Amino acid sequence: MPRILPRGEIEGLDHTSIPRLRLPNPHSIFKERGQRLLHLAADHPAQTYLQLMAELSAAQHQTLQTLSSPVIDEQHIAHALQHGMPPLLSSAWQRDPNWQKIMATLLQTLASSNTVPTAAQEIAAQLLHQLKHEPEVIEALADAVLTQQLARGDSGKAAFIMAALQVYWTHLASALSHEHIPLNTPFGVCPCCGSLPVSSIVRVGGSADGCRYLSCPRCSVEWHVVRVTCTHCESTDGIFYHGIEDGPAGIKAESCDSCHTYRKIFYQKDQLHVDPVADDLASLALDMLMGEAGYERSSGNPLLWQEP
Ligand SMILES: [Zn+2]
Ligand SMILES: [Zn+2]
Repeated sequence: MPRILPRGEIEGLDHTSIPRLRLPNPHSIFKERGQRLLHLAADHPAQTYLQLMAELSAAQHQTLQTLSSPVIDEQHIAHALQHGMPPLLSSAWQRDPNWQKIMATLLQTLASSNTVPTAAQEIAAQLLHQLKHEPEVIEALADAVLTQQLARGDSGKAAFIMAALQVYWTHLASALSHEHIPLNTPFGVCPCCGSLPVSSIVRVGGSADGCRYLSCPRCSVEWHVVRVTCTHCESTDGIFYHGIEDGPAGIKAESCDSCHTYRKIFYQKDQLHVDPVADDLASLALDMLMGEAGYERSSGNPLLWQEP
C-alpha cells in the first residue's frame, strides 16, 4: 500500500524537484498580457475596459524596454535574506524617485496613442501635469494605491498609477535571481515584495508541470504553493472548487470554509496563454457567483480598483 506522506514531508520533496519561483521575463510579461487581454475582450461584456487595459499593458511593455538593468543593493538583499523578509517589500523599500520617470514614459505612450479612449487620455494628461508640477501629490497617490487608501475621487487614476508601479517593481524583480529571495518568507504574500497574490495558475511543461504557482500583481514573481491549500489562511480542510456552468474550461475559484474567502485558480492545460491578471479581470462573472455563495475575494485585481 502506498505510504501517505505527512504535509511537512511533501513540502520537503517539493523543494528538491519543483522550482519554488518563476521570475518575470521583462521582454514578454506585459506584451503577452496585452495580447491576452485583447483576445479575452472579443465579445466580452466588459470589452471596452479590457481593450483599454490591453493598451495599458502594451504601454507597460514599451516603457519597460526603455529601462537599463537596475543596480542590485547587495547589502539590502543580504539583510532581507538574514531576516527571511521579502527583499523588495514595499513598506520597507524606499522607492527610487526615478519611478516617476517610468510613470511619465508610460503616460506619454498612452497619451500619444490614437486608439486610447478620450476619457483615459484625459486622465493620463492630468497625471502628467501633476507629475510635472506636483510630484509630491503623485507620491501620495502611489502610497494610497499601495495601502488601499485611495480617496474615492481618485479611483479613476488607480489603474494608471498601479501600472507604473508594476513596471517599476517588475523591472527590479527581473534583475534578481532565486538566491536573492529567502526560502521561508511569511505565508500568503509574495516572497519578493510582500504583496498579496492576485490568482494562481497550475502550470504545464518542464519541472513545474502540474504545479500551482501564485502570482504577484506588483513585481510579477510567481511562487509555488501546493494544491488544495487555502492560499489565504493555509488551511487544507474545507477547500472547494467552483466554476461557471457551461463557462470556459480551466477557470475555477478555490474557496476555503475556514476563512470564507476564495482566490481563482487557472489551469494552463486548458488555457495555454492564461495570464494571472488578465484572466482574473475577464472572469468577473465567477466573482459574482462567489459573492452570491457567501465568499469574499481574498485580494483584488491591480487593474480594477475596488473600495476596500
Ligand atoms: Zn511581488
Ligand atoms: Zn482559508
